[in-house]
Amino acid sequence: MTFEIKERDAAGRLCRFTTKHGNVTTPNLLPVINPNKMMITPKEMKKRFGTNILITNSYIIFKNPELRSKALESGVHTLIDFDGSVMTDSGTFQSYVYGDVHLDPIEIVKFQRDIGSDIGTILDVFGTPDQTKTIIEQGMHETIERARISIPYKGEMLLACPVQGSVYPELREYCARQLSGLPADFFPIGGVVPLMENQRYSDLVRCILAAKQGLDPSKPVHLFGAGHPLIFSLAVALGCDFFDSSAYAKYAQDGRMIFQWGTEKFEDLTELPCACPICSKYSIAELKELTTDERTLQIALHNLYVSFMELKIIRVALTEGWLWDLVEQRASANPFLSEALRVLREPTHLQWLEHHEPTSKKTAVYYTGPQTIYRPMIFRYLTRLFTRFEPLFQSTVVFPEGTKPYSQYYAKEMAHLLQQKNVNLVVNSTFGPIPFELDEMYPETSTWRPRRMHNKV
Ligand SMILES: [Zn+2]
Repeated sequence: MTFEIKERDAAGRLCRFTTKHGNVTTPNLLPVINPNKMMITPKEMKKRFGTNILITNSYIIFKNPELRSKALESGVHTLIDFDGSVMTDSGTFQSYVYGDVHLDPIEIVKFQRDIGSDIGTILDVFGTPDQTKTIIEQGMHETIERARISIPYKGEMLLACPVQGSVYPELREYCARQLSGLPADFFPIGGVVPLMENQRYSDLVRCILAAKQGLDPSKPVHLFGAGHPLIFSLAVALGCDFFDSSAYAKYAQDGRMIFQWGTEKFEDLTELPCACPICSKYSIAELKELTTDERTLQIALHNLYVSFMELKIIRVALTEGWLWDLVEQRASANPFLSEALRVLREPTHLQWLEHHEPTSKKTAVYYTGPQTIYRPMIFRYLTRLFTRFEPLFQSTVVFPEGTKPYSQYYAKEMAHLLQQKNVNLVVNSTFGPIPFELDEMYPETSTWRPRRMHNKV
């Protein structure tokens, strides 16, 4: 495996991830394939969406004698007819949904290795938000122990070891550190589905931040079970590299269409607010005339088009340096997501984010709303201003915000003042005080705020 960072923005990274079955550019999405019932075949996914990595469930294959013998004989790639990278899950999620799943942790890892999975997953213990901290802690220790005993059996397969710890940041961080001390290859952040389902995005953000603080930064991080594009940009900005989606099929079965701003019931729509090949081909009336199965398939395809498009936008934003702009735009569509951004204002999180923030970017800082002034870039500027900058003179004159560069905008006033006395000249900007000496330095040289804030007062 190689995992090579190509671009960085916020705490996110654009990487090239390589397995025996080729390269994948991250951030990326792994569609979930049910080996029992493929709504859309992996081949079709590759053709339509350029999918070169996906995830299927080794537990389902293991439990079905026919699938199991075929997979052992000719490999999981042949079983699902796909030549890209295949990740397998272990049955942990089934045990969460259906209760007790009797599986031997070592046996399921060996099975994944033997069917030729590129990335296998240990049988971790799924912690849920309604469990007590003691139960969560026991499950977390059991997960670490299972990782430790499973690793010797992985062979050439990459092994994913999920970070557990539920809604307890200290347990998440501890678990992440312990797993990072082992020769594991891939780190999912597990147990977040109940948080996603209940739109508990603030808790989700705390889980990701805590896990990331303990994880080895050189390994890929996968937000396990997160399949809605609404949260992709924020999760990427916090350092997640992979997502998986069974949501495209589950939502479609329920007649729900996924959009970047949320989910809409197909029946409630009067028009299709999308330009994907499906929504371009059908009108809403034509979709209604299809049989239920056919309509479900078309909605599932739409859901995947929208999900993959969001990842394309994120990769461009990350490369061009406007990932925070995108995060703030998406958060403005959902009050719970907007609330989750407030978690990032907490000093310890801001310091961690500032540490990962690139020092310079290709694009200007756009003011998208009150959250913008809490960006790590602005935090860095203000911290450095107050700790490193020494004013030249005793007295200071403060100007209201004008257009840039301030020294030109206020040239006349500046000349007039300096004829009388040596004073420091400072602009009281949206982003904080800006001494005239710094107004042509990044980020202050390239910050953009609403027009009304530009007017001379
Ligand atoms: Zn569409």
